[in-house]
Amino acid sequence: MPTRRDEARTSRRRAGDNGFRGTIMQGTTPRRLQGMADPLLASMVRAMGLGESPQFAARSPQVMAYVNRWLENGKHRDGAVNPSPVFPDGVAADDPVALARLIKATATELGADLVGICRLRPAMIDLGVDLPHDFVVATVVHEAYDVVIEGYAAVEEEAMRVYAEVSDIATRLAAFVRHLGYPALAHHNGGSCVQAIPVFHHAGFGELGKHGSLITEQYAAGFRPSFVTTTMPLAEDQPRSFGVQEFCLHCTICMKNCPGDAIPNEYVLTDGVKRWLTDLEKCYPYSRLRKEYCHLCVDVCPFNARPYAETYKAFMKQQRQLGYGTPKS
Ligand code: SF4
Ligand code: SF4
Repeated sequence: MPTRRDEARTSRRRAGDNGFRGTIMQGTTPRRLQGMADPLLASMVRAMGLGESPQFAARSPQVMAYVNRWLENGKHRDGAVNPSPVFPDGVAADDPVALARLIKATATELGADLVGICRLRPAMIDLGVDLPHDFVVATVVHEAYDVVIEGYAAVEEEAMRVYAEVSDIATRLAAFVRHLGYPALAHHNGGSCVQAIPVFHHAGFGELGKHGSLITEQYAAGFRPSFVTTTMPLAEDQPRSFGVQEFCLHCTICMKNCPGDAIPNEYVLTDGVKRWLTDLEKCYPYSRLRKEYCHLCVDVCPFNARPYAETYKAFMKQQRQLGYGTPKS
Protein backbone atom coordinates (compact mmCIF):
# COMPACT_ATOMS: atom_id res chain seq x y z
CA MET A 1 0.00 0.00 0.00
CA PRO A 2 1.34 3.44 -0.83
CA THR A 3 1.95 5.28 2.43
CA ARG A 4 4.55 7.95 1.79
CA ARG A 5 4.04 11.15 -0.13
CA ASP A 6 7.20 12.37 -1.73
CA GLU A 7 6.12 15.93 -2.29
CA ALA A 8 9.63 17.29 -2.59
CA ARG A 9 10.11 15.42 -5.83
CA THR A 10 6.62 15.62 -7.20
CA SER A 11 6.97 18.78 -9.23
CA ARG A 12 10.19 17.48 -10.80
CA ARG A 13 8.37 14.39 -12.04
CA ARG A 14 5.58 16.23 -13.79
CA ALA A 15 5.81 16.04 -17.52
CA GLY A 16 7.41 19.14 -18.92
CA ASP A 17 9.23 20.51 -15.88
CA ASN A 18 11.60 17.84 -14.75
CA GLY A 19 14.87 16.12 -15.31
CA PHE A 20 13.07 12.84 -15.99
CA ARG A 21 11.21 14.03 -19.02
CA GLY A 22 12.02 11.70 -21.87
CA THR A 23 14.27 12.84 -24.64
CA ILE A 24 12.55 12.59 -28.01
CA MET A 25 13.70 9.38 -29.63
CA GLN A 26 13.17 8.93 -33.35
CA GLY A 27 12.27 5.46 -34.51
CA THR A 28 14.29 3.84 -37.28
CA THR A 29 12.64 0.45 -37.91
CA PRO A 30 9.89 0.13 -40.53
CA ARG A 31 6.80 -1.56 -39.08
CA ARG A 32 5.56 -4.67 -40.79
CA LEU A 33 1.95 -3.73 -41.42
CA GLN A 34 -0.72 -6.14 -40.25
CA GLY A 35 -3.88 -7.46 -41.89
CA MET A 36 -4.95 -6.00 -45.21
CA ALA A 37 -2.64 -3.00 -44.60
CA ASP A 38 0.23 -5.39 -45.41
CA PRO A 39 0.85 -4.77 -49.15
CA LEU A 40 2.09 -8.33 -49.79
CA LEU A 41 -0.94 -9.92 -48.13
CA ALA A 42 -3.33 -7.47 -49.81
CA SER A 43 -1.94 -8.29 -53.25
CA MET A 44 -2.14 -12.05 -52.60
CA VAL A 45 -5.73 -11.74 -51.34
CA ARG A 46 -6.71 -9.65 -54.37
CA ALA A 47 -5.09 -12.22 -56.67
CA MET A 48 -7.53 -14.76 -55.20
CA GLY A 49 -10.40 -12.42 -56.11
CA LEU A 50 -11.17 -11.75 -52.43
CA GLY A 51 -11.51 -8.60 -50.35
CA GLU A 52 -10.38 -10.09 -47.04
CA SER A 53 -7.93 -12.75 -45.89
CA PRO A 54 -9.79 -16.06 -45.53
CA GLN A 55 -8.14 -16.59 -42.14
CA PHE A 56 -9.41 -13.27 -40.78
CA ALA A 57 -12.86 -13.70 -42.35
CA ALA A 58 -13.28 -17.10 -40.67
CA ARG A 59 -12.61 -15.90 -37.12
CA SER A 60 -14.99 -17.33 -34.53
CA PRO A 61 -17.17 -15.13 -32.26
CA GLN A 62 -14.86 -15.99 -29.34
CA VAL A 63 -11.80 -14.88 -31.28
CA MET A 64 -13.60 -11.68 -32.31
CA ALA A 65 -14.41 -11.02 -28.64
CA TYR A 66 -10.68 -11.16 -27.88
CA VAL A 67 -9.91 -8.86 -30.83
CA ASN A 68 -12.52 -6.37 -29.59
CA ARG A 69 -11.00 -6.49 -26.11
CA TRP A 70 -7.58 -5.37 -27.31
CA LEU A 71 -9.16 -2.77 -29.63
CA GLU A 72 -11.02 -1.36 -26.61
CA ASN A 73 -7.75 -1.30 -24.63
CA GLY A 74 -6.27 0.60 -27.57
CA LYS A 75 -8.43 3.58 -26.56
CA HIS A 76 -6.75 3.74 -23.15
CA ARG A 77 -3.07 3.46 -23.98
CA ASP A 78 -2.25 6.91 -22.62
CA GLY A 79 -3.71 9.16 -19.94
CA ALA A 80 -3.10 11.99 -17.50
CA VAL A 81 -0.03 11.82 -15.25
CA ASN A 82 -0.77 12.04 -11.52
CA PRO A 83 0.68 15.36 -10.26
CA SER A 84 0.75 14.16 -6.62
CA PRO A 85 2.07 10.61 -6.62
CA VAL A 86 2.43 8.55 -3.47
CA PHE A 87 5.18 5.92 -3.38
CA PRO A 88 5.19 2.73 -1.35
CA ASP A 89 7.44 2.58 1.68
CA GLY A 90 11.04 1.81 0.73
CA VAL A 91 10.68 3.03 -2.86
CA ALA A 92 12.35 6.36 -3.61
CA ALA A 93 10.96 8.23 -6.59
CA ASP A 94 14.35 8.38 -8.32
CA ASP A 95 15.80 4.98 -7.40
CA PRO A 96 15.94 2.93 -10.64
CA VAL A 97 16.56 -0.36 -8.84
CA ALA A 98 13.64 0.01 -6.41
CA LEU A 99 11.35 1.30 -9.16
CA ALA A 100 12.25 -1.61 -11.47
CA ARG A 101 11.51 -4.03 -8.62
CA LEU A 102 8.15 -2.35 -8.02
CA ILE A 103 7.21 -2.36 -11.72
CA LYS A 104 8.15 -6.04 -12.10
CA ALA A 105 6.19 -7.02 -9.00
CA THR A 106 3.16 -5.07 -10.21
CA ALA A 107 3.31 -6.58 -13.71
CA THR A 108 3.52 -10.03 -12.16
CA GLU A 109 0.51 -9.28 -9.96
CA LEU A 110 -1.36 -8.18 -13.08
CA GLY A 111 -0.67 -11.60 -14.63
CA ALA A 112 2.64 -11.34 -16.51
CA ASP A 113 4.74 -14.52 -16.59
CA LEU A 114 7.95 -12.69 -17.54
CA VAL A 115 8.92 -9.05 -17.17
CA GLY A 116 12.06 -7.42 -18.60
CA ILE A 117 13.30 -3.86 -18.81
CA CYS A 118 15.74 -2.07 -21.08
CA ARG A 119 16.58 1.40 -22.28
CA LEU A 120 14.71 2.45 -25.42
CA ARG A 121 16.80 2.60 -28.58
CA PRO A 122 15.84 4.05 -31.98
CA ALA A 123 15.72 0.56 -33.54
CA MET A 124 13.01 -0.39 -31.02
CA ILE A 125 10.64 2.29 -32.33
CA ASP A 126 8.71 2.43 -35.59
CA LEU A 127 10.22 4.51 -38.36
CA GLY A 128 8.60 7.95 -38.40
CA VAL A 129 7.57 7.91 -34.74
CA ASP A 130 9.08 10.28 -32.16
CA LEU A 131 8.62 8.79 -28.71
CA PRO A 132 9.57 11.00 -25.72
CA HIS A 133 10.37 8.04 -23.47
CA ASP A 134 13.59 6.48 -22.18
CA PHE A 135 12.73 2.95 -21.01
CA VAL A 136 10.58 0.06 -22.13
CA VAL A 137 9.03 -2.63 -19.94
CA ALA A 138 8.27 -5.89 -21.78
CA THR A 139 5.70 -8.31 -20.36
CA VAL A 140 4.89 -11.80 -21.56
CA VAL A 141 2.10 -14.28 -20.91
CA HIS A 142 2.64 -17.87 -22.00
CA GLU A 143 0.23 -19.88 -24.13
CA ALA A 144 -1.08 -23.29 -23.11
CA TYR A 145 0.82 -25.87 -25.18
CA ASP A 146 -1.60 -28.79 -24.90
CA VAL A 147 -4.15 -27.20 -27.27
CA VAL A 148 -1.92 -28.27 -30.19
CA ILE A 149 -3.62 -31.66 -30.05
CA GLU A 150 -7.01 -30.01 -30.66
CA GLY A 151 -5.94 -28.44 -33.95
CA TYR A 152 -5.73 -25.07 -35.67
CA ALA A 153 -8.85 -23.43 -34.25
CA ALA A 154 -7.88 -24.20 -30.65
CA VAL A 155 -4.33 -22.93 -31.19
CA GLU A 156 -5.62 -19.70 -32.72
CA GLU A 157 -8.15 -19.15 -29.94
CA GLU A 158 -5.45 -19.62 -27.31
CA ALA A 159 -3.15 -17.14 -29.08
CA MET A 160 -5.91 -14.54 -29.28
CA ARG A 161 -6.87 -15.10 -25.63
CA VAL A 162 -3.31 -14.36 -24.59
CA TYR A 163 -3.06 -11.31 -26.88
CA ALA A 164 -6.16 -9.93 -25.14
CA GLU A 165 -4.70 -10.70 -21.72
CA VAL A 166 -1.38 -8.97 -22.41
CA SER A 167 -3.26 -5.93 -23.70
CA ASP A 168 -5.05 -5.74 -20.32
CA ILE A 169 -1.70 -6.00 -18.51
CA ALA A 170 0.01 -3.23 -20.52
CA THR A 171 -3.01 -0.94 -20.14
CA ARG A 172 -3.09 -1.35 -16.36
CA LEU A 173 0.68 -1.21 -15.96
CA ALA A 174 0.91 2.06 -17.93
CA ALA A 175 -1.88 3.52 -15.76
CA PHE A 176 0.05 2.43 -12.65
CA VAL A 177 3.22 4.17 -13.87
CA ARG A 178 1.27 7.37 -14.64
CA HIS A 179 -0.25 7.15 -11.16
CA LEU A 180 3.34 7.25 -9.86
CA GLY A 181 3.89 10.53 -11.67
CA TYR A 182 5.66 9.48 -14.88
CA PRO A 183 4.32 9.55 -18.45
CA ALA A 184 3.72 6.02 -19.77
CA LEU A 185 2.20 4.53 -22.92
CA ALA A 186 0.88 0.98 -23.41
CA HIS A 187 1.78 -0.96 -26.59
CA HIS A 188 -0.11 -4.07 -27.70
CA ASN A 189 -2.23 -5.38 -30.57
CA GLY A 190 -4.66 -2.49 -30.07
CA GLY A 191 -1.92 0.05 -30.85
CA SER A 192 1.88 0.01 -30.71
CA CYS A 193 4.95 1.74 -32.06
CA VAL A 194 7.39 -0.64 -30.33
CA GLN A 195 9.39 -3.30 -32.22
CA ALA A 196 9.28 -6.47 -30.17
CA ILE A 197 12.40 -8.38 -31.23
CA PRO A 198 15.10 -5.82 -30.30
CA VAL A 199 13.32 -5.17 -26.98
CA PHE A 200 13.22 -8.89 -26.18
CA HIS A 201 16.93 -9.16 -26.96
CA HIS A 202 18.01 -6.24 -24.79
CA ALA A 203 15.58 -7.08 -21.97
CA GLY A 204 17.27 -10.48 -21.65
CA PHE A 205 14.32 -12.66 -22.67
CA GLY A 206 16.21 -15.01 -24.95
CA GLU A 207 17.33 -15.64 -28.51
CA LEU A 208 15.84 -15.67 -31.99
CA GLY A 209 15.10 -19.14 -33.32
CA LYS A 210 15.26 -20.38 -36.89
CA HIS A 211 11.47 -20.12 -37.09
CA GLY A 212 11.82 -16.34 -36.69
CA SER A 213 10.31 -16.05 -33.21
CA LEU A 214 12.14 -15.32 -29.98
CA ILE A 215 12.79 -18.34 -27.76
CA THR A 216 12.71 -17.73 -24.02
CA GLU A 217 14.19 -20.16 -21.54
CA GLN A 218 10.88 -20.57 -19.68
CA TYR A 219 8.23 -20.63 -22.42
CA ALA A 220 10.26 -20.88 -25.64
CA ALA A 221 8.24 -19.08 -28.34
CA GLY A 222 4.89 -20.01 -26.79
CA PHE A 223 3.98 -16.55 -25.53
CA ARG A 224 2.51 -13.20 -26.54
CA PRO A 225 3.96 -9.86 -25.47
CA SER A 226 2.95 -6.32 -24.63
CA PHE A 227 5.01 -3.28 -23.66
CA VAL A 228 4.98 -0.05 -21.68
CA THR A 229 7.28 2.84 -22.54
CA THR A 230 7.97 5.52 -19.96
CA THR A 231 10.27 8.22 -18.65
CA MET A 232 10.42 6.47 -15.26
CA PRO A 233 14.11 5.71 -14.51
CA LEU A 234 14.43 1.93 -14.31
CA ALA A 235 17.31 -0.50 -13.77
CA GLU A 236 17.95 -2.42 -16.98
CA ASP A 237 18.16 -6.13 -17.64
CA GLN A 238 20.89 -7.47 -19.93
CA PRO A 239 20.87 -9.61 -23.11
CA ARG A 240 21.48 -13.28 -22.37
CA SER A 241 22.10 -16.44 -24.31
CA PHE A 242 21.35 -20.05 -23.41
CA GLY A 243 22.44 -21.83 -26.58
CA VAL A 244 19.37 -21.46 -28.82
CA GLN A 245 21.11 -20.08 -31.88
CA GLU A 246 23.80 -22.76 -31.68
CA PHE A 247 21.09 -25.45 -31.39
CA CYS A 248 19.19 -24.05 -34.38
CA LEU A 249 22.30 -24.41 -36.55
CA HIS A 250 21.91 -28.18 -36.32
CA CYS A 251 18.12 -28.53 -36.01
CA THR A 252 15.67 -28.54 -38.91
CA ILE A 253 12.39 -29.50 -37.25
CA CYS A 254 10.55 -26.24 -37.95
CA MET A 255 11.88 -26.21 -41.53
CA LYS A 256 10.74 -29.76 -42.19
CA ASN A 257 7.29 -29.20 -40.69
CA CYS A 258 6.60 -25.88 -42.40
CA PRO A 259 3.92 -26.64 -45.00
CA GLY A 260 5.05 -23.69 -47.13
CA ASP A 261 8.77 -24.48 -47.08
CA ALA A 262 9.11 -20.86 -45.92
CA ILE A 263 11.91 -21.22 -43.33
CA PRO A 264 15.47 -20.95 -44.66
CA ASN A 265 18.52 -22.78 -43.37
CA GLU A 266 20.75 -19.78 -44.07
CA TYR A 267 20.85 -16.81 -41.75
CA VAL A 268 21.88 -13.17 -41.95
CA LEU A 269 23.77 -11.40 -39.18
CA THR A 270 22.40 -8.20 -37.61
CA ASP A 271 24.60 -6.71 -34.88
CA GLY A 272 26.10 -10.18 -34.37
CA VAL A 273 22.66 -11.82 -33.93
CA LYS A 274 21.67 -14.58 -36.39
CA ARG A 275 18.34 -13.99 -38.12
CA TRP A 276 16.62 -16.57 -40.28
CA LEU A 277 14.25 -14.63 -42.51
CA THR A 278 10.95 -16.40 -43.11
CA ASP A 279 9.79 -16.10 -46.72
CA LEU A 280 6.38 -14.48 -46.22
CA GLU A 281 5.29 -15.11 -49.79
CA LYS A 282 5.62 -18.83 -49.04
CA CYS A 283 4.23 -18.58 -45.49
CA TYR A 284 1.05 -16.59 -46.22
CA PRO A 285 -0.71 -19.25 -48.34
CA TYR A 286 -0.79 -21.36 -45.14
CA SER A 287 -0.88 -18.77 -42.39
CA ARG A 288 -3.23 -16.16 -43.96
CA LEU A 289 -4.81 -17.43 -47.15
CA ARG A 290 -6.56 -20.45 -45.67
CA LYS A 291 -9.22 -20.49 -42.98
CA GLU A 292 -6.92 -22.49 -40.72
CA TYR A 293 -4.46 -20.71 -38.48
CA CYS A 294 -0.83 -21.83 -38.85
CA HIS A 295 1.53 -21.82 -35.89
CA LEU A 296 3.24 -25.09 -36.73
CA CYS A 297 6.83 -23.82 -36.79
CA VAL A 298 6.47 -22.83 -33.13
CA ASP A 299 4.39 -25.83 -32.06
CA VAL A 300 6.93 -28.40 -33.32
CA CYS A 301 9.97 -26.64 -31.85
CA PRO A 302 11.54 -28.83 -29.17
CA PHE A 303 12.21 -25.79 -26.99
CA ASN A 304 8.46 -25.15 -26.89
CA ALA A 305 7.68 -28.71 -26.08
CA ARG A 306 10.29 -29.36 -23.41
CA PRO A 307 7.93 -29.28 -20.41
CA TYR A 308 5.23 -31.22 -22.28
CA ALA A 309 6.98 -34.40 -23.41
CA GLU A 310 3.89 -36.60 -23.67
CA THR A 311 1.81 -34.01 -25.51
CA TYR A 312 4.73 -33.31 -27.83
CA LYS A 313 5.12 -36.99 -28.67
CA ALA A 314 1.43 -37.30 -29.47
CA PHE A 315 1.50 -34.09 -31.50
CA MET A 316 4.54 -35.13 -33.53
CA LYS A 317 2.86 -38.48 -34.19
CA GLN A 318 -0.11 -36.53 -35.59
CA GLN A 319 2.33 -34.55 -37.71
CA ARG A 320 3.95 -37.70 -39.09
CA GLN A 321 0.53 -39.10 -39.97
CA LEU A 322 -0.14 -35.88 -41.85
CA GLY A 323 3.12 -36.41 -43.74
CA TYR A 324 5.27 -33.72 -42.20
CA GLY A 325 9.01 -34.21 -41.58
CA THR A 326 10.24 -35.37 -38.21
CA PRO A 327 13.53 -35.01 -36.38
CA LYS A 328 16.20 -37.64 -36.86
CA SER A 329 17.25 -37.52 -33.22
S1 SF4 B 1 3.40 -20.04 -39.81
FE1 SF4 B 1 3.20 -22.01 -40.86
S2 SF4 B 1 3.63 -21.57 -43.01
FE2 SF4 B 1 4.39 -19.82 -41.84
S3 SF4 B 1 6.55 -20.26 -41.42
FE3 SF4 B 1 5.40 -21.06 -39.67
S4 SF4 B 1 4.97 -23.22 -40.19
FE4 SF4 B 1 5.58 -22.16 -42.09
S1 SF4 C 1 12.54 -26.19 -34.38
FE1 SF4 C 1 14.76 -26.40 -34.17
S2 SF4 C 1 15.62 -25.03 -35.73
FE2 SF4 C 1 13.47 -24.46 -35.46
S3 SF4 C 1 13.53 -22.81 -33.96
FE3 SF4 C 1 13.17 -24.70 -32.82
S4 SF4 C 1 15.23 -25.39 -32.21
FE4 SF4 C 1 15.51 -23.84 -33.81
